[in-house]
This record gives sequence, structure tokens and C-alpha cells, in this order.
Amino acid sequence: MITKSQSIFERAKAVIPGGVNSPVRACRSVGVDPVFVVQGDGSAIFDADGNKYIDLIGSWGPLILGHSNSEILETIAETMSSGTTFGAPTEIEVRFAETLKSIVPSMEMIRAVSSGTEATMSALRLARGFTGRPKIIKADGGYHGHADCLLVAAGSGAATLGIPGSAGVPEGAAQDTIVVPYNDLPAIERAFEANPAQIAAIIIEPIAGNMGLVIPAAGYLEGLRTLTTKHGALLIFDEVMTGFRVAYGGAQALYGVTPDLTTIGKIIGGGLPAAAFGGRTDIMHKLAPLGPVYQAGTLSGNPMAMAAGLKAMEILGRPGTYDRLEALGKRLGDGLLAAAQAAGISATMNRVGSMLTLFFTAGPVTDYATAKTADTARFGSFFRNMRDRGVFLPPSQYEAMFVSLAHTDEDLEAVLSAAKASLAE
Ligand SMILES: *Cc1c(COP(=O)(O)O)cnc(C)c1O
Repeated sequence: MITKSQSIFERAKAVIPGGVNSPVRACRSVGVDPVFVVQGDGSAIFDADGNKYIDLIGSWGPLILGHSNSEILETIAETMSSGTTFGAPTEIEVRFAETLKSIVPSMEMIRAVSSGTEATMSALRLARGFTGRPKIIKADGGYHGHADCLLVAAGSGAATLGIPGSAGVPEGAAQDTIVVPYNDLPAIERAFEANPAQIAAIIIEPIAGNMGLVIPAAGYLEGLRTLTTKHGALLIFDEVMTGFRVAYGGAQALYGVTPDLTTIGKIIGGGLPAAAFGGRTDIMHKLAPLGPVYQAGTLSGNPMAMAAGLKAMEILGRPGTYDRLEALGKRLGDGLLAAAQAAGISATMNRVGSMLTLFFTAGPVTDYATAKTADTARFGSFFRNMRDRGVFLPPSQYEAMFVSLAHTDEDLEAVLSAAKASLAE
């Protein structure tokens, strides 16, 4: 019998390349077809055939409050009743920037955009415009959205599909991107020495989440800060994933390292499309209309997205939020690792708070090269077995799973017993 998801997927493939609007959703690397989702409620999603899954993707990070959070939905509805978009400034954009700045103080001035890709692309243009230098440094396996100059040795879907760069990226766009291994400060020193006064910025995930989760080694972020300052380059923390995820003030608050520019997204849209970049006032003053660096967006600062994001920030600011996320993350991380070990499977658990990756390798996993030692065939069967048991994992070894505030202890119990059975198979 053909399922409803299968029949929608057949229609999808005829009109949408691969049947999906973002490649990893296709689940190709784990050898299954996607299910089509019709509803989300708290920690669960429901597919077109009525199957329920405990969701550990959370729309790839944004849904830290879970699906269909009632306060978020009410806020969106209320804001929407005054109109959906104006293309003219609204007070809520000011409140959004003021609130974000009060939580992430290094973002002295902020511009809102609609996606993480726009945020990183714009931050890099700004860094180049500010410094007058052409080159940037990024980490092997680091993912910063799909702008041309950033699709070099990129993580996330590119890593999952084994695409080292991308067709269609002209040599000119890639030649100014210097790729270094994550957690390797000497490689960065060498890059600065080999390119004197040429490097505009280092863009880095302060906790890598798109090669699977990789934790910054002790002193790594501090070292990046020192080296960029010494060589007159900017330090850009791409906190699109880590912002509001690993701590209220993001990874920069957790590790106490202050970047020049920050890009942030996912959670700050409260489930609607919003992202932002911001940083030092002197740098942000280079942006149009004040300065010569152009950047714009028809739907930037969309009032519904701003309202949803503001509400998410308010809820996350309530007492105990991040303690609860840590407790849930720890229970899941420890339990998954124990399940793998009990089944005699080599595994490494990398976790910060409520974001985590179970790598099927003895580890340790400290960069993309060591991440790639993981057994992706083993991951594929784990993913399929878990989905069959009603647990939705990110469909790639090179992604992080996320726990939300909507997950209950019973949810995690169910996930761990599914994992035990799945890993024993
Ligand atoms: C998801 C992500 C992006 C891209 O954001 P989109 O909204 O998907 O364009 C950029 N950087 C990091 C670190 C991300 O995790």
C-alpha cells in the first residue's frame, strides 16, 4: 500500500527538485523517503498518515519552545491583525533590536534580515567593506549558509551529501576563502602570515553544529580573539544555531569571548523567518544608508517574525529555562551514549546543553576530519530504526539534535528505550 506521504512525495518530485525545499530534508543519506508533516504539537510532529514522532530536530534549531507554543501563536495572531508587512519602519523592530542588544551586548547595533544565510553573507560584506580586505577564513566543515564564498568545505547538507564545494560557485568567489581545520590555532596563524593585511575576518561557529557538534577546545575562541585583533581582522561569531540555544546570551556568554560581529537566527524568529547581524557601532555605521556597504530586504524586520522572536526571548528569559534545558540534554546525551556502549558500539557523545551529536566513532571528535571517522552506515540504520519507533532524529550524522522545553521526562524515557532497541538490532 502506498502511504499518503509517499503519494505527496511523488507529486513533490515532479515540481520541486528532489521533492524538498532544502536538501537534507530529503533523507537521502539515511536511505529513506521523507515523511510529510501536517502538524506539530509540543515535542511531537504528526505526518500525513497520522504517525506521531517525538521530534529531536525542532525545525533544525528554531523550536526551542517546542511546536505550536500557545504564547507564540497568540502573539503572531495579535500582531497579524494589524497587517502582515509594511516595507516601512515599525516600533516592534526597535524593540527587537533593543531587547537583543540587552541580552547579547556585543551586538551594539543590529540589522534584522530573514535568514541565517542573509545574516552571514551581509556580515562578511560588511567586514570586507570595513577593513578594505578581500579574504576570509572559515573552518573545514563549518556551515554559514549558502552564499557563494561560504560554500567552500561547508558542513551541514553539503557534508551530508559529500559536496565539497558547490557547482555554480565561480572560482573568484571561492579563491578569497581560506579553509582551516576547526580547533587549530596554528593553522590560523599560518594563514595570517601567508596573507599579510589581506584577511578581513574569521567567521566561525563558536560551537560547531554543522559537522555534527564539535566543542571548541580550551583557549580556541580566546586564541581567535587574540589573533584577529593582532592582525587587524574582525572576529565574526556565527551564532545562528548557538544563539539562545547554549545560553541566553549565546556561546559568547558561555565562553566569555566577545566577537566584533555576530550573526544570529533560528531561535530569534520564534519559528518564523527572522535572523540578524550586529556588532560594534563603528563597524555597523558602514552599512547603508549611513555608509557605503549595501544591504537590504523587502521583508526584513517583518512584524510577525519580530513579535514571535520577542516573545521567544521573553519566555527564554524566565528563571530556570537553561537549567531545565541542560538537565534534559544531559539525560538524553548520557542515555544515548550508554545505549550505544551497552550494545558494544563505538560512540562519542558531544554535547553542550540541549544540542548534541552521537557520533558512531571511538572519537574524540574535535574537527571535521575526526567527525568523518564516524560510521555513517551505522548512523543510517540508527536513524531508520528510530523513525520506525516514532523518534525523529536529524537525518544526518553531521547534524546536531535538539531538545526543547516542551520535551518531558517521559519523552526522553521513550527516546532512550527506542534507542536501546534500535542499537541492539
Ligand atoms: C542554519 C545556519 C545558517 C543558515 O541559516 P538559514 O536560516 O538556514 O539560512 C548559518 N549558520 C549556521 C551556524 C547555521 O546553523
